[in-house]
Amino acid sequence: MAKINDNYLKLKAGYLFPEIGRRVRAFAAANPEAKVIRLGIGDVTRPLAPAVIKAFHEAVDDLATVENFAGYGPEQGYDWLINAIIEKSYKPLGVDLKTEEMFVSDGSKCDCANILDIFALDNVVAIGDPVYPVYNDTNVMIGRTGEADEKGHYKGIVYLPCTEENGFIPALPTGKVDIIYLCFPNNPTGTVASKAELKKWVDYALANDAVIFYDAAYEAFITDPSIPHSIYEVEGAKKCAIEFRSFSKTAGFTGVRCGLVVVPEEVMGTTESGEKYSFNKLWLRRTTTKFNGASYPVQKAAAAVYSEEGWKQNKEIIDYYMENARIIREGLAAAGLTVFGGVNAPYIWLKTPDGLSSWDFFDKLLNECNVVGTPGSGFGPAGEGYFRLSAFGNRDNVIEAVERIKKNLK
Ligand SMILES: *Cc1c(COP(=O)(O)O)cnc(C)c1O
Repeated sequence: MAKINDNYLKLKAGYLFPEIGRRVRAFAAANPEAKVIRLGIGDVTRPLAPAVIKAFHEAVDDLATVENFAGYGPEQGYDWLINAIIEKSYKPLGVDLKTEEMFVSDGSKCDCANILDIFALDNVVAIGDPVYPVYNDTNVMIGRTGEADEKGHYKGIVYLPCTEENGFIPALPTGKVDIIYLCFPNNPTGTVASKAELKKWVDYALANDAVIFYDAAYEAFITDPSIPHSIYEVEGAKKCAIEFRSFSKTAGFTGVRCGLVVVPEEVMGTTESGEKYSFNKLWLRRTTTKFNGASYPVQKAAAAVYSEEGWKQNKEIIDYYMENARIIREGLAAAGLTVFGGVNAPYIWLKTPDGLSSWDFFDKLLNECNVVGTPGSGFGPAGEGYFRLSAFGNRDNVIEAVERIKKNLK
């Protein structure tokens, strides 16, 4: 009989979102008249920008004609999209990238997972806690870890606690690690890192021959002009960092699917025999072998994000979410809660009142305000006692949810 990949059995059951669903369904069944407002999920709700929809439609029409039909494109993405991203998203930051250093994909979750293919299993990996669960679980699946302890920390991974004391920015690892995951603006805490902060990580990586996986999925939500949008704004980062970006949250592509990875040519690893080798070359090889490119209409739609109209329209959508974030953040503070994030990120990270556990606060919020959020403990043990609210909801719902919290939370 064929053997399974036993590493999958080490994973804790996908507990967080099913459990939220179960509790919300039970509440709704017992309280059919209650209007439950969901501020839990990390999914967008606004429609795509009109310029993006127009380009999407036109690209579909291209496929209906012999002259403009597009079949397989380049596995790593069309040059017209890659160059538009470089010009519009990186050049203004003072970051020069070559076309060959960027790879377009069908989303960032896959990229964050797939990148592990080109790194040896005996690399030591450091991950924040709390964290986007994909970083952790994909390392378990690929076989880099032992079993989980009772807290949910896997043997072999270095966890970097992100706490109120350190401003939710982890301290540098005390020992040597080879791969470091950083995500700014952060999901779930809404924290951002200054250039000086990122420089510490780049310096550590350069000194330790480590590679940083920089997840910038939320860079478009940065409002403070002093906060870097890309790790490559930090000197030396092109030698040690791989950056992930996504159209999902920044342009409403969660259902359309498009992302990108930047693998600068200078990022090097060593072979078994100790020679230097470029990760860019390996990633190109992996991409051309295991992927056949994001679809043509999707890449056309993504390119329209960088058109003058698309850029402006998209900015309005981001402003809409960030106004939601402001309403939530200020409303919760007025209700006496301690809140973090929500200024340069679409997530508000709040400290549960009276030392309640994350799940007890979930139940309280559901029962007393009929509002659904996400328990911080679902993102890792250091998230216990915290709670995440998302700014991706509809404005009227956000206003009503905040009013209910101000009035009813006892
Ligand atoms: C939503 C999200 C992504 C993007 O995932 P896609 O697969 O591109 O939709 C990446 N990283 C984090 C931390 C996210 O929250």
